[in-house]
Amino acid sequence: MTRSRIAAFLLAAAVATAAVAAPAPNPYQAAVDGAWERYRTLDEGKNADYIPALAKVDSKLFGVALVTIDGKSFNKGDVEARFSIQSISKVFTLASVLETYGAQAVLEKLGVDATGQVFNSIVAIEQMKGKEMNPFVNPGAIAATSLVEGATAEEKWARIVAIHEAFAGRKLDIDEEVYRSEAATNDRNQAIAKLMRAYGRLYFDPAASTDVYTRQCSISVNASDLAVMAATLANGGRNPVTGKQVIASANVSRILAVMATAGLYDDSGIWLYEVGLPAKSGVGGGIIAVAPGRFGIAVFSPPLDAAGNSVRAQKAIRDISAALRANPYDVKVGKP
Ligand code: GLN
Repeated sequence: MTRSRIAAFLLAAAVATAAVAAPAPNPYQAAVDGAWERYRTLDEGKNADYIPALAKVDSKLFGVALVTIDGKSFNKGDVEARFSIQSISKVFTLASVLETYGAQAVLEKLGVDATGQVFNSIVAIEQMKGKEMNPFVNPGAIAATSLVEGATAEEKWARIVAIHEAFAGRKLDIDEEVYRSEAATNDRNQAIAKLMRAYGRLYFDPAASTDVYTRQCSISVNASDLAVMAATLANGGRNPVTGKQVIASANVSRILAVMATAGLYDDSGIWLYEVGLPAKSGVGGGIIAVAPGRFGIAVFSPPLDAAGNSVRAQKAIRDISAALRANPYDVKVGKP
């Protein structure tokens, strides 16, 4: 080899080594980044406005967060922006009730079947005489709050906050503006609580139960918090960041079952058909999804579709789940 050929050869070898040494893009980060980029400019849906304070939230906010069961987090966008947890809180209040009374009592006192009706339906209560209201639609959710252990509203509230904080791994506050706004306009939920009481399916004073429920919906979180909370469910009830066993792993499968059948209200069947992951949405614009044994995802984007589910969050989670082959019903045939 001539000197110049040797030089060319060495250069080529150096370039090849550099290419090999460059870190491969992390598949989790790539999936999160890809979904965020794809829907960053999507402008569909509308903020919830039946709670006046929610109409004022910046519709452009968009954050995507994923936490694995070994506690690694992958984020993109507005993952620190705070918003009210709303119906996602129903997951953690159910967790508290399961811990106190067990799976059988939840089945008997609340019910776990999907109603197939919108989340604040009164028709569903009338049809079933207050029975079979799963804990993720308002009648069953207010009943679950009424059932939380504690002789007073304050004691019940303290337990609800504690379980949310254990799942999140940090102290959480209330969004006072959202709380006041919903408390001033929640006549429908008050009616639901009274009707449930009339059927003997509420386990505490209706006004106090509705107030504690409204507070729990106003807990202020960000997408990063919710991803840790979802990852705790993915990890059998052990918070992968704090290492604390928050709930018994036997209760996690019960919670995930209700998330799968009723997590996105009357669109839960469509969601499971398309994505396959247990999930829960809130009218604040958040959605969590759980890939059991793998990771939790949380996405925040306020504009909702007609069923009350965040448009961009649904799309982002669907894409991330597909990119990471996370659908547990998607059985891989042949070579892995
Ligand atoms: N606080 C809200 C309500 O009761 C929660 C509803 C939701 O997120 N779907 O109406």
